[in-house]
Amino acid sequence: MRLLRSNHINNRITITRPKVDGPDGMDLEEEPTVSMVFHNGILHIVDGHYESNGWTIQIFESRNPIVNTDAKLFYQKSPWFAQPAYGRHNVLVATIDKTPNMQEYERWANLLVAAQDRIRWLYDQAKVGYVMMFADMRPSDIPEPHLQLVTLPVIPPTIKTEIESSRDIKSEMGICPMCQIVDEETGGKRQILTSKNFIAICPWPPSSSYEFWIVPRKHSVSFLKLTQVDLHDLAMLMWSTLGGLTKTLPGVSFSLAFHLSPEKKKTSRLHWHIEVYPHTSGPAGMDKGFGVSLCNVSPEDAAKDLSVASRREWIGAVGVNL
Ligand SMILES: [Zn+2]
Ligand SMILES: [Zn+2]
Repeated sequence: MRLLRSNHINNRITITRPKVDGPDGMDLEEEPTVSMVFHNGILHIVDGHYESNGWTIQIFESRNPIVNTDAKLFYQKSPWFAQPAYGRHNVLVATIDKTPNMQEYERWANLLVAAQDRIRWLYDQAKVGYVMMFADMRPSDIPEPHLQLVTLPVIPPTIKTEIESSRDIKSEMGICPMCQIVDEETGGKRQILTSKNFIAICPWPPSSSYEFWIVPRKHSVSFLKLTQVDLHDLAMLMWSTLGGLTKTLPGVSFSLAFHLSPEKKKTSRLHWHIEVYPHTSGPAGMDKGFGVSLCNVSPEDAAKDLSVASRREWIGAVGVNL
């Protein structure tokens, strides 16, 4: 059984599950649960596999899900806080062979449109307190743009902390801390690239060398309210900076996490953003033990490298100098 365990000392959550053979994620040979097809300006949702000349996103149930809907519900109390890891684990893939003529940044844009729709659907399901959207990208992994969506019955600790800190700072200083960061970093030494509505920056205290964030330039608390034009703009910046990262550090694995507001709790709002963590850290004793990171490249130098490489990617895709 998959169990969601937590304690109240460090607010940590751990999911335990039976050992699985083979990698997590999905197998593209398998039949998708749902295909999303964009046709004549309208998003169609089709059960199973669908052949299309337009863009298609396929949604798979994970082969080795982190959470599932099998378990009977129960709650264990202090100090062994636990409940079943009840939820859904979907993998969204912008399959390249279905859209051979499409540029990769357009695939990212379509993936984000589909993700918005799927997140809405997931929040309508039972026992969903939060939808985590993230990706773990390894060079040996599937080459297609893909995202994982894993639901939890509770709000994850990192998101909870960011919401509470933002709320405290806002009530004390009268300004959203992420808006303040965007204001201060725009045009500064840690800026990588900007698009119309988004900015990519290396954070002042990164957790690993070359970590960067993508943030809406204006205060925004709902990813689900973004228009298709916004998502296209975001996809361009994501694609350029992720491409810039892999050109700067060839062969690097990285993870990305969307820090979004929980949609069911309207009082818990977060200036949403994407955090990208290249796997560049060394030994983890200090980081895991004390929350103190060590970076061998300053965020100012990292931003310089990433900026040059990301601009090149952007120009390569659209031919426009920034
Ligand atoms: Zn803000
Ligand atoms: Zn964050």
